[in-house]
Amino acid sequence: MVGKGAEQFAMEQGLEMVDSSYFRDEKRYEQLMRILEVEKQRQGHSSILEMELEDPYFKDRKYGTVGAVAVDKNGNVAAATSTGGMANKRYGRVGDVPVIGAGTYADNATCAVSATGHGEYFIRNVVAHEIASLIRYGKKSLDEAAKEVVMDQLVKMNGSGGVIAVDVKGNISMPFNSTGMYRGYIKEKGQAKAFIYNDEEEGL
Ligand code: ASP
Repeated sequence: MVGKGAEQFAMEQGLEMVDSSYFRDEKRYEQLMRILEVEKQRQGHSSILEMELEDPYFKDRKYGTVGAVAVDKNGNVAAATSTGGMANKRYGRVGDVPVIGAGTYADNATCAVSATGHGEYFIRNVVAHEIASLIRYGKKSLDEAAKEVVMDQLVKMNGSGGVIAVDVKGNISMPFNSTGMYRGYIKEKGQAKAFIYNDEEEGL
């Protein structure tokens, strides 16, 4: 369910409803203004994607998705992803996040994946499911599979972003091809670590 139907369903379930001003964020507003300005200047000359590649402002952006993947002691995996989408998105756009197999996927035969990035590319590449398939049919490890999709398949298409993933054995992989990606993990004994840029992810 999306749009009005989803809203109606949420209301029927008794979820708290707030005015859209509740979600106003000054930084995001400034970002939107900047995008609209650049778009106006370049009307008819370049796409948002080209802007992303050329404009340092876009290059430096880090996506703001909140995603989680988990595995329990019996090897059950789960994934969840939440996002406000892309700045200046089209009315009615549905991104990759709620599309199972694209931005979110979990399967006890392989792994759980939650993605962030330019959603259209994640839908086209069916990123989360592709990672699971490379493990299932290609016999790759989680890290090999995640890196192949994020650092090779997506890069070839200029699709920026990354994933967090955990497999049924508890292996973790968090590759990204954008400048940074807020990410972290908590292991079974409670060891927790967080990263933003390309730090050494020791002991994964
Ligand atoms: N993947 C999201 C989208 O395209 C954006 C994000 O990473 O937050 O809607």
